[in-house]
Amino acid sequence: MLCFALFDLDDTLYAAETGLWPAIGRRIELFMVERLGLAAESVPALRRRYYETFGTTLNGLRAEHQVDAHDFLAYVHDLPLDEFVRPNPALDQMLARLPLVKVVFTNADAAHARRVLGQLGIARHFDRIVDIHARDFASKPAPAAYEAALRLIGADPRACAYVEDLARNLAPAHALGMLTVLVSPQAPALSAGVDLVIPDILALEAALASTGRLPAPSAREAV
Ligand SMILES: [Mg+2]
Repeated sequence: MLCFALFDLDDTLYAAETGLWPAIGRRIELFMVERLGLAAESVPALRRRYYETFGTTLNGLRAEHQVDAHDFLAYVHDLPLDEFVRPNPALDQMLARLPLVKVVFTNADAAHARRVLGQLGIARHFDRIVDIHARDFASKPAPAAYEAALRLIGADPRACAYVEDLARNLAPAHALGMLTVLVSPQAPALSAGVDLVIPDILALEAALASTGRLPAPSAREAV
């Protein structure tokens, strides 16, 4: 039986079409140009290298430019969230029905996660936010990030579903024994490490129910 649902945050709990994640990407590039004095034309290739080598731009900048993580994260998330993300009552209701302990597992920081959850109107469902600081900068898809998350929430991976928009971040979760769910409007063919594909987060409840691994609704979440 499942007991925990771990959720990626950006482009998972809200749809990619909101444009928030690309806007954060533009803030990241602005930080690299304005704060670090890097040439704008060098930034996209540098970010690609950091993504492949260090998992995130932040970890690349920490390794090679001694960037302060709190300063960086505050800068890149300094955006008018309400212009991108709208309250999602249908998601609020689906999460209320889902009889699992819900956890955000993000490469961003808890401050950003809390603001996004608040804007979506779903903060009440999340028992825990496992952010980049809680894991001492172990970022997905490094296996250490998943091991730290499991340790922090006290979960057996076989009792966890992990929901995420990037297949590369699902593979390590699958290797540990989690049930992996890819959120992808493009409906790609199933790939290694992906158990289920859903077009939108609202399809999660039916997808999990189809596995027969959802417990009966708990008294705590029953409305
Ligand atoms: Mg994401």
